[in-house]
Amino acid sequence: MGFSTVLGQDYLKNKVLRQIKGNTLSHAYLIYGNPGLDPQGFAKIFAQGILCKERAGEIPCGKCIPCKKVLGDNHEDLKVYPEETLKVEEIRNLEKDIHIKPYSAGKKIYIINHGEGITPQGQNALLKTLEEPPSFGIILIVARGKEALLPTIQSRCQGLGLKPVAGEEIYEALKNSWGYPEEKAREASKIAGGKIKTALRFLEDEDFENRRKQLFYLYRQMEEKGITESMEAMEKLSVEKDQIEEVLDLSLSFFRDLLLYKELQDPRWLIHGDQEKIIQDLGKKSGFKGILKALEEVEKMQNYARANVSPKSILEMLVLNVHQALSDK
Ligand SMILES: [Zn+2]
Repeated sequence: MGFSTVLGQDYLKNKVLRQIKGNTLSHAYLIYGNPGLDPQGFAKIFAQGILCKERAGEIPCGKCIPCKKVLGDNHEDLKVYPEETLKVEEIRNLEKDIHIKPYSAGKKIYIINHGEGITPQGQNALLKTLEEPPSFGIILIVARGKEALLPTIQSRCQGLGLKPVAGEEIYEALKNSWGYPEEKAREASKIAGGKIKTALRFLEDEDFENRRKQLFYLYRQMEEKGITESMEAMEKLSVEKDQIEEVLDLSLSFFRDLLLYKELQDPRWLIHGDQEKIIQDLGKKSGFKGILKALEEVEKMQNYARANVSPKSILEMLVLNVHQALSDK
């Protein structure tokens, strides 16, 4: 139990634990990171730690009544907003509710799981709450990137940015905690790019695997098929909002593989070693300059995703810009 169940993030874990134990908690936090790093999971365990009765042993203990209530999603003083969009009315209700004293705990916590989905009007309403919070109120805003929120909101929250975890740590966790065989755990930890949820999606979700292969095939065919057909193929991947980062992460590691293979001609160094044929084919047709440019374009799209630009627009730009980049030999 406790924060030890969160992989990596030692700096953040120590920081919030110090604040819980020393009673120096802030009124608002902005917990942000790639969805594959599970910032929502971090917010929940943070809330559990604040509400937990234990103050000496492992926090959260997972055994006391408040801990069990948080796990069962029925703690009276914790409200979670799972909605992808939050309108101003809902923020106004939050503002009213936060001033009512806690029911059983010393604190009252609100987790907004999609901070980037708060409408601009809602964000302005939230500012008011952040400026004059009651002593017992704590708001945890979760977002894919801090850029998705107004600078005035950012500056009133303590930022907790999640970082990718070492591949070795993911490998060990998949093997020891999840019980995956060595080879599978190794493969998943490479593809995960430091994100445990991505590793688990690769291992448990067939859609992820199909999409990975289709995406690479799309890049391989791009030049012959042209922009319109490539856009159609991209649309067929039907990427949901919470999966856009995944597609961009896969694109990034694919183009890195392409560069590496061009230089070393050795599949052992590849993240997507099973896709050697496609990587080899596209590598032959593309120049270093073009691949580097494609990498830059993917990074640019990652910034857009953090700022909550719609997946549809991002994927359209991705096809257009990568197509153009790769034609530069
Ligand atoms: Zn507890």
